[in-house]
Amino acid sequence: MNIDIPHHLSDEELEAQLKSLARGEQEATARLISHLAEFDARRLYLGAGFSSLFTYCCEVLHLSEPAAYNRIDVARTVRKLPDILRMLGEGSLSLATVRLLAPHLTDDNHQELLAAAAGRSKREVEQMLAGLFPRPDVPTLIRKLPAAPSLPTPPVPSEAAAIVAVSSLPVASPSPPPLPVQTSRPVLKPLAADRYEIRFTATADTREKLRLAQDLLRHAVPNGDVAQVIDRALTALLKDLARKKIGATDRPRTSRGTAPGSRDVAANVRRMAWSRDDGRCSFVSKSGRRCNARAFIEFDHVEPYGVGGEGTVENIRLLCRAHNAFESERFYGRGRPSSANSSREEFAPPPVPLPP
Ligand SMILES: [Zn+2]
Repeated sequence: MNIDIPHHLSDEELEAQLKSLARGEQEATARLISHLAEFDARRLYLGAGFSSLFTYCCEVLHLSEPAAYNRIDVARTVRKLPDILRMLGEGSLSLATVRLLAPHLTDDNHQELLAAAAGRSKREVEQMLAGLFPRPDVPTLIRKLPAAPSLPTPPVPSEAAAIVAVSSLPVASPSPPPLPVQTSRPVLKPLAADRYEIRFTATADTREKLRLAQDLLRHAVPNGDVAQVIDRALTALLKDLARKKIGATDRPRTSRGTAPGSRDVAANVRRMAWSRDDGRCSFVSKSGRRCNARAFIEFDHVEPYGVGGEGTVENIRLLCRAHNAFESERFYGRGRPSSANSSREEFAPPPVPLPP
């Protein structure tokens, strides 16, 4: 099969074909799952010389181990509830959301649960399930990790590593779930509608700061509850960030403004633009979709600064870094540094966020 990068397509053709290919992939996945379910039921892998469907999938179908595991898990759920195949084919459920739902699906509730999960992301389904099937709070736990010589970047000093587990309510729970000895990925998972388990690895330095904060807060939080201490710390951090980024203050002064012709955006303009755009990227696509990103937000001149655009509330909007660069390219053409039109440093594509 000869597949090339489709340089020749127009933008519209490229987007249309991309959508059609994604639909095709969803249908193909649903078909693969349906065949895998029947293959599993007939246990044909045994006759083919494999002791398990998993090994067969890896060695004969060339699926990666996680891909094989996910597909087999879903195929076994589908054997009990074949309705799921249609939803997988339409793309209203994904392998990930089916796997989350599977342990909770019963003859009585499956229609309702599947309908409620349709079209939702993995994170949204996780949140929905936590609301419907709340789990007990995890106990607050700080544990010293054993030496971690093989942890790659960033290096964690072996004698200093600690896991901090925080539940948002200080409630004793029957038995703590076993923590992995080493974890390089943080955990943030919903336990119930409004409670989360948060777990991460911290340095000895961070642990010391936590202890100090607990001690200094004894008057307000006598039991030193970590969830409350962290909440106060984050509140203070957000207030500080708001002050630095948007000039938010409890006592706004009349602005001295900025020098005529300056690229700087005055603090009162920042505050008003921030509040008008709700602290989110205000870019709206041709089809009317607003971006709404909250990360890498920048103040942008609607009429570019380079052609005399002023730093007024009407001419200042919030854009995420990617859309700021996109608008700048649209105006100036590619190759021109996007900072030509913004009050910030150079452009670098924002990192792809890690899945939770
Ligand atoms: Zn954006």
